[in-house]
Amino acid sequence: MAEQAFIALGANLGDRKGNIDRAIDLLRQVDGIEVVRVSRLIETAAVGGPDGSPAYLNGAAELRTRLGAAELLENLLSIEATLGRVRHARWEPRLIDLDLLLYGNQVIEQPGLTVPHPLMHTRRFVLEPLVEIAPDVIHPILGKSMRQLLANLS
Ligand code: ATP
Ligand code: CA
Ligand code: CA
Repeated sequence: MAEQAFIALGANLGDRKGNIDRAIDLLRQVDGIEVVRVSRLIETAAVGGPDGSPAYLNGAAELRTRLGAAELLENLLSIEATLGRVRHARWEPRLIDLDLLLYGNQVIEQPGLTVPHPLMHTRRFVLEPLVEIAPDVIHPILGKSMRQLLANLS
């Protein structure tokens, strides 16, 4: 039985659009992951990272997957590594960042995996692309649609 999942895509180093496109290509090649839809990409100034961090391109994608949430995250992290991401500090500039936002309507709290992504409802750069592809999907903890969460930010 396949689950619907949503991920966030972000890049602020190198060929940002190229990195995001490659990540999507690699996702499509994973057995058990289908990329249903990808949002447009938006540009956002970096927040939270070191001073002078370059601007991000951000987008969101809808997946259908036979993989469990933990296995899906493992694939996201391994695609980040394939694209050359090395982790040092949190929120530092990166070639690619793939976050698991929603996995069906499941609420998951385990070491290394929190779903829904704990900051998604606070981030315009996540909600804007998500509203384009999933305006009526409900946040399983907050009970609000993506459209409502975005409206709440303004
Ligand atoms: P933020 O979480 O604020 O967006 P980040 O994406 O920069 O920060 P990373 O360094 O990419 O943070 O990830 C740190 C760790 O977060 C990962 O190793 C992963 O195990 C963990 N993690 C927990 N829940 C999730 C999730 N829903 N999606 C992606 N990573 C998650
Ligand atoms: Ca992130
Ligand atoms: Ca991440």
